[in-house]
Amino acid sequence: MTLIIAIDGPAASGKGTLARRIAMHFGLPWLDTGLLYRAVARDVLAGGGNLDDVAVAEAMARSIVAGTLDDPALRGPQAGDAASIVAKIPEVRAALLDYQRAFALQDGGAVLDGRDIGTVVCPQARVKVFVTASDAARARRRFLEHMGRGEDVTYDNLLADIRRRDARDSGRSAAPMLAASDALHLDTTELDADQAFEAVMRLIHERIAGS
Ligand code: C5P
Repeated sequence: MTLIIAIDGPAASGKGTLARRIAMHFGLPWLDTGLLYRAVARDVLAGGGNLDDVAVAEAMARSIVAGTLDDPALRGPQAGDAASIVAKIPEVRAALLDYQRAFALQDGGAVLDGRDIGTVVCPQARVKVFVTASDAARARRRFLEHMGRGEDVTYDNLLADIRRRDARDSGRSAAPMLAASDALHLDTTELDADQAFEAVMRLIHERIAGS
């Protein structure tokens, strides 16, 4: 049985943690697709290019390989902001599509998280979840994460970053962030990581039992 699970939602909604735990639970491989866009932006900037240079960004997207995704520099808020600029470019999205689809089509299935997994990358996914949380809850989570790593960030900057990214990701014309019409919805504002995992597993089991 092939089980493809698509987890979408905005930054710091908890989707990454949920996707990782769901993948562990089912023994499936997991792809954090945001890392692909972050790596493209990193490579464009490392080559001295502009993030909105279509030809350069597309070339970087075509040369992305999984090995370059394991880079701590991809985790910060600047990398996320830069990622959302290259993510608006249709040619970049197209260049990353085959890699994501091939990952999803592995024997047994896979868990992918991002913004357009349920709508564009894997519209055939057996289970789709769209994860949200309030802006304030998401900024607070990011603030605690960065503080825990001893990084110099402010809550206000993180809130502004989240809102700017949400606007870019929802407002773009190429594969905007959107819940698929058949997605299950989970709001994690009032939930800690364990409660969110329990809630998402309940939804997933109901969906699998009903399909
Ligand atoms: O999920 P993460 O915050 O790492 O994603 C970084 C950026 O990459 C997002 O703000 C979005 O612009 C882009 N992205 C996307 N489609 C995906 C995953 C990420 O456009 N499937």
